[in-house]
This record gives sequence, structure tokens and C-alpha cells, in this order.
Amino acid sequence: MKHKEYDSLIVGKENAISYIADYNTYELIHLTQKAMELFKMKSPEEYRGMKCYKLLQGLDAPCPFCTNDKLSLDSVYKWEHFNDVLHRWMAIEDMLVVIDGRLCRLEHAYDITDQRRQIKRLSDQLTVEQILVRSLNTLAASDDYSLAFNSFLEQLGRFYRADRAYIFEIDYDKRVVSNTYEWCAPYVTSEIDNLQGIPIKYISDWLKKFKETGEFYINKLDTDINHNREDYNILANQGIESLLAAPLLTGGRTVGFIGVDNPTNATNDMTLLRASSDFVVEELKKRRLIQKLERASYIDMLTGLNNRNRYMEVLKGYETNPPKSLGVVFADVNGMKTANDTRGHKYGDRLLIRVSEILSLAQNCHVYRIGGDEFVMLFENVDKETFDKKVIEIKGHFDQDPDCDVSIGSVWTQDEVDINRQIIKADELMYAEKQVYYRSVLSNGRTARLGISEEVAREIEENRFVVYYQPQINIKTNQIIGAEALVRKKGDNGEIIPPDRFIPYYEIEGVISHVDLFVFKEVCAAMKRWRNQGICLNICVNFSRVTLMMPDILNEITRICEEYEASPKNLTIEVTESIGKMDQAYIKNLFDALIDRGFTISLDDFGSKYSNLSILNDLKFHTVKIDKALVSRLENNEKSQIIMRNTIRMCHELAATQTLAEGIETEGQYRLLSNYKCEYGQGFFFSRPVAFDVFDDMIKRGGKE
Ligand code: C2E
Ligand code: MG
Ligand code: MG
Repeated sequence: MKHKEYDSLIVGKENAISYIADYNTYELIHLTQKAMELFKMKSPEEYRGMKCYKLLQGLDAPCPFCTNDKLSLDSVYKWEHFNDVLHRWMAIEDMLVVIDGRLCRLEHAYDITDQRRQIKRLSDQLTVEQILVRSLNTLAASDDYSLAFNSFLEQLGRFYRADRAYIFEIDYDKRVVSNTYEWCAPYVTSEIDNLQGIPIKYISDWLKKFKETGEFYINKLDTDINHNREDYNILANQGIESLLAAPLLTGGRTVGFIGVDNPTNATNDMTLLRASSDFVVEELKKRRLIQKLERASYIDMLTGLNNRNRYMEVLKGYETNPPKSLGVVFADVNGMKTANDTRGHKYGDRLLIRVSEILSLAQNCHVYRIGGDEFVMLFENVDKETFDKKVIEIKGHFDQDPDCDVSIGSVWTQDEVDINRQIIKADELMYAEKQVYYRSVLSNGRTARLGISEEVAREIEENRFVVYYQPQINIKTNQIIGAEALVRKKGDNGEIIPPDRFIPYYEIEGVISHVDLFVFKEVCAAMKRWRNQGICLNICVNFSRVTLMMPDILNEITRICEEYEASPKNLTIEVTESIGKMDQAYIKNLFDALIDRGFTISLDDFGSKYSNLSILNDLKFHTVKIDKALVSRLENNEKSQIIMRNTIRMCHELAATQTLAEGIETEGQYRLLSNYKCEYGQGFFFSRPVAFDVFDDMIKRGGKE
């Protein structure tokens, strides 16, 4: 058969790459012109006799995918195959033909590489779109930005089958770029910590490319990037050979980039990176705004000082991590309300700014504006001498500024710093300075801040506060004469929170009166029940001096008594020595009115703090409660015994009051107090504070716990 005659077998298949080979020997018999060109054959002589598998597939033995056994004379076998010699995809039609009595295979192949790519692209793009939608949903759905970005990056990384996917953000002020979010494939080590604060100049080439082409990629690190460049070292150290990155743009400026390292899928396809970059920018903006708001929520907008939120955070931090020593300064502007009323709010604002400036002159401390006209300074781990000097300096500054009239209280302690107590103390001392202004300040700056007041009211509604009773004993007869009502709070998990943990805070917040009056009400209700059962007891209720300053406290107490038909005769109002720091005329009037209505008044914690004896002279108390600190030192301590004996005597003789010793824990203490003619006692030796039912049981049994 001639060359031309073979061609006649191939009529209508001009576009195909065709050949004829011997079915049994695999020897090539004929190649069409197109096939000759593709396989670089100049003439038929060159290929004749060559094995088809050698020339066409580059193999030394019949192809493992040879289709000969699938062929027949009356049908066409169609299949697709990637030709390794041509690097092209082929759609193939094979058939058997008999030529000159020889059984031959005839193959027509069509190059379908381009179509295949197109289809792949289409399906890739479909995936890109799906991934994009999924990623963006992830970003939008989660409030936790780290989580949202991390899972977005994971989808990106998985799509590109990359080692890492990441977000870098540029800080133009500091001229650095940092890796802010990262996803790593399993077995790939995280690099984020090594990629913080990289000088922006290291990526100048990237920025240029971002600007020019909207992308930056490295196909092969070794050849694409000059080895002297800083970014080469950084990338090489991470084992990066290739990468794709797209800029994050805000107003045309590159503010960062997202990228993937060592991608093995869609390596030329930036679609997903580019398409998601806009959304990432939006989310980053949102996140920044939130951060800004969070920061702002720690800053007082007027003065730029740390605000009450920050202050509360710091106090909370002290609970687990107290400083070795702490100096606290409380400063409260005098006459703020008058200043606002008479000279306007602008003037008031300027005054507060001036105060904050003066306080900020002090070093080694943090200054907080915790309320309208209240400031606190915390000096951590500053020795007492330095602290005292600083306080004198601060006072000196204020003395020189006649417009800034500020009351200042300060306390310093070390070792087992009890923050709450200390702050209360500093606060109390500040109040001492403030006697003249106290009441006017109370009516504006010191009123409960909105929110906390409602919270406490709600907690009372929800029965979160419970009243415990600690029996009080007549030391002579050993009989229970009554009890002190002591409040507790139930925590979220039902745990009992002792009053020291929340009362000082409520006092500072000005909301303590809610709690005090709640306890008072509960006590009156209990007394009504007891009275119906023929039981008559005296109950002491603690009243914070902040509660006593309430403008209509007297009416409120009277109203509650009337509501529960409780007799003031059996009710004792317990106040602490700190009332000595209050406006004496006001306190005296209030006490007179209370006594007038039949209440008894007891002075709590006597001998614990200032031991201001003159208070016994100035005010009339029915009972003085001697602090447990004095009681606990009694045994085997002659000096303490002398102090105790004389304190009791002094109360009897000087002030004509009875005494009650608090915190009696041992029989020895009890005996000594009995010898000293202390009338009443209270303490763990008799009973701890107990819930109503337990106390109720106790009195009905008429005995001990
Ligand atoms: P406080 O009025 O001096 O109450 C006595 C405290 O000493 C109680 O602590 C009591 O449990 C404790 N105590 C009693 N006997 C002993 C003893 O033998 N040894 C020792 N180590 N401690 C003893 P609690 O109940 O934790 O109350 C602490 C403070 O909280 C009270 O001191 C009082 O100042 C305040 N507080 C309690 N309830 C109220 C309230 O309803 N309103 C106000 N404003 N303050 C309250
Ligand atoms: Mg008390
Ligand atoms: Mg006490």
C-alpha cells in the first residue's frame, strides 16, 4: 500500500493525529502529516519499523494501557489519555483494520488539552466561589475575631493545599509589618511568633508588586529572589519555596496582605486570595474599631486618665496577685456641684481636668477617675517614706492652686495587702477631710451610679442576699439575748460570699443602703414571726455610714418598722467608729431622733482602728462592741488584759454604756471577759453566724449551736 492509499483510510479525519501500526508486532506503518510534525518525523522512512509504543509514548515495551485487546473490526473504541511525550491530553478513537492481509490498529487522536484546562478552571472556579462564600460566612458569623480569621485562613490554606495561610498587617507609624493571624497545615510549625515587627523595608519589593500588579508571588524562592535580600532569609528560614499573596487595601493603600506558603493546588490562581481580600479588610476594620472601643472603655474621655472600669479590673487583679505594698490616695473635689451650678459645666470640666493634671504629676503610680469628682491613685510597691513624701507633694500642689479644692485621704500598708480594707480606709480618711462638704457632695457626686443600683435591687428581688444570725450571749447567765444580723450573698453557683467581699465595694458605689435596708426588713419580718410565737429577742443590724447619710433614712427605718409592726425597742442600729469622721451635728441629730423613737445604738469594732475615744464623749451609745482584735490577744498577754479591763471600765464609767466583746473563740477569753464584768459576748465559742432556720431552732431549744 502506498502512502496516499493509507491517507484514504483517514478521510474526514484531517484534524486528527493518526497512525497505523501492526497489531501483532506494534511496528508503525503509517503516520499522518500532523502526527509526523508532532513527533518530529521528517519522512516515513524515519519511523517505519519503529515500535508504536516507543515513538508515541516514549516506552520500551508495549504500553500497559494498550487498548489492542479491546478492539474489533466493526466498532470504534474511544478513550482519553494524557500523552507523556507531547504533554497533551488526547481524545482517542481506536479500531482494527486489515491492510494487505495484515491486522493493524488504526488510531485517531485529538488534542483536547485546552478544553480540559477550561473545564478544570471552571470547576476550580466553582470551588473558589464556594470556598469564598463559606469563608465569608465564617468571618461574618463569629464574634470572636481570632476564631473567625483562623477558620477563614484554614479554608484558604486547604483550598490551595498550602503549608500556611496568613494575614499580615502593616503599622505605618512604627514602620513594621506583623503576622496577625495564621493557619498551619498539620505537621507544619507555626511561624507567627517569629514574624512580629518585621521592618517594613524588608517587604518593599512586595509593596511595589502589590501596587503594580495587585499581587505578589514566588514560584521558586531559590531563583526568583536574590539571596542577599532580607525577605529571602526570612522565607528560606521558614522552608518556603513558593507563595502567593494579595494586598489588603484601604483607600488604595496597602495595609497588609493575605497569602499562602507552598501552595500545591491552583498555584497560578489568585482568584480566591484577591476576592477575599476586600472582605478581610472590612473585618479587620471592624475588629480595630472594637479594639478602639474596648480601649476607650478603660479611659476617661474628659481627663484621659484610666477610668472606673480599669480601676475595678486592677482591684480584681489584686485579688489573685496582690502587690507587696500598696499606697492608696483618694481625692475628691470639694464643691463640685456648686462649681457646676454657679459657674457652668464647662468650668466644672476644666476643674476636673486641672485636678487630673495635678494628680498626674506624681510618678510611680496609676491615677484613676472613678466617679464624677472622685479620683484614686494607686502606688504599688513604693516604700512608705516615698509614698508619704508624694502625698505631701500632691497636697502642696493643690495648696498652690486656689481654684482646686480637693479632699485627700491616704493609706499605705504592706504584707498581705487587704485591698478592700485599705481603700475603704483611704476613702474614710478622705471623708474626714471632707466633713464640711460631705453632705453636698453626697447629694450629687456620691449618689449611686446608674446600673449598679439597679443590679443590686434586682439581686435583692432574686433573693441573692441572705441574712445570717450570730447569737449574742449574756456572759453572766450564759443565755442568748439576741443576735447580730450579718448579710451574705449567694454567688452564681450558690456559693456563699462573705460581706467583706462586697460591702466595701457597695459603699464606694453608694448602693449599700439597698442591702442595709433589705437586712433591716428581713429582721423586722423575723421578729414578727417570733413575736407571734411569744419569743422576744434583740437583733442588731449593721448600718453603713453611707446609709446613715441617706436624706430620708429616719423615715425609711420607721416605715419598715411600722410595716412589720416591729418594736424599735428590740432593734439595735450598729454603726462603726467611722461615723466619728462624719458631720457631727448631723450624726448627733440623727442619733437623737433614733433614740427618741426607741431604737438602741451600738458602736461596732471599738478599738480596731482609730480608737478615737472622744467619740464616746460626743455621742450616746447603748452598747460598745469591743473589737475581736482586742479579744484575740487577751490570753497570756498582760498588756492586752490591762487594756481590755480598762476599756470595759471606761465604757461603764465614762460613757455609761454596756459592753459586748466580739470574736470570743475560747473558754479562756470568755472567763477573762466575765471577770472584767463585760456584759455580753458574741463569737465562735458560742456559735458562728447561722442561717435563720438554724438560729430559730437554737433559740427554741434555748441553747448552743
Ligand atoms: P461586724 O459587724 O464586726 O461583724 C462581726 C464579724 O465578725 C462577722 O463577720 C462575724 O462572722 C465575725 N465573727 C464573729 N465571731 C467571730 C469569732 O469568734 N472569730 C472570728 N474570727 N470572727 C468572728 P462577717 O459576717 O464576715 O461580717 C463582716 C463585716 O461585714 C461585719 O463586721 C460588718 O461590718 C459587715 N456587715 C455584715 N453584714 C452587714 C450589713 O448588713 N450591712 C452592713 N453595712 N455591713 C454588714
Ligand atoms: Mg457589726
Ligand atoms: Mg464588729
